[in-house]
Amino acid sequence: MKRIDLHTHSLLSDGELVPSELARRAEHLGHGVIAITDHVDRSNIELVVKSMAKAASELNRYMDIQVVPGVELTHIPVQTIARLAKLARRLGAELVLVHGETTVEPVHAGTNDVALACSEVDILAHPGLMTPEQADRARQAGIYLELTSRRGHCIANGWVARVASEAKAKLLVNTDAHSPDDIWPASRLHEIVVGAGLTGDDYQTMLKNAENIVQRCLT
Ligand SMILES: [Zn+2]
Ligand SMILES: [Zn+2]
Repeated sequence: MKRIDLHTHSLLSDGELVPSELARRAEHLGHGVIAITDHVDRSNIELVVKSMAKAASELNRYMDIQVVPGVELTHIPVQTIARLAKLARRLGAELVLVHGETTVEPVHAGTNDVALACSEVDILAHPGLMTPEQADRARQAGIYLELTSRRGHCIANGWVARVASEAKAKLLVNTDAHSPDDIWPASRLHEIVVGAGLTGDDYQTMLKNAENIVQRCLT
């Protein structure tokens, strides 16, 4: 099974690479699919989504890797999450992430709750010290929860793994890559999953979850 990463950044926000180089480096490391999910708020959502959708459609004509244009709604006021998620979708985003309440940043309180109530959201990224009730709502809403290899954001991986498992919410493991060194091969992501207290079987399930979400995005 080829690796799928559903959370990365290009220089359309604060990543280091143009989408073409990010996609090529991921392809070279054995990825079958990469979602490029740049940070957006009201200032840049049109520019980023339209640019990324254009780049993805061109790359998908010539490359073996599948490039999915997405967004990460980041640090936006909670009152605007649903509206901007819809707008992102309308502009051409096939995958909508919300930047969750990590333990290392002043993300607006309530972001996790509002994201979990929004039908346009696919993934609640690095949700931090989310509650068991929130994990249960993620399961009900079909919103995927994320373990991450990103420094700082990964502090709560063990907790997220535990509450998601208890609630039977679906998990993914992504890199949140911003630079070439952040694009990890499958073996290292397996360590992230096991390091969070889960098993090799859980890792396989997470790979299937990633495949399912790609199917859902592209249909
Ligand atoms: Zn984020
Ligand atoms: Zn991110």
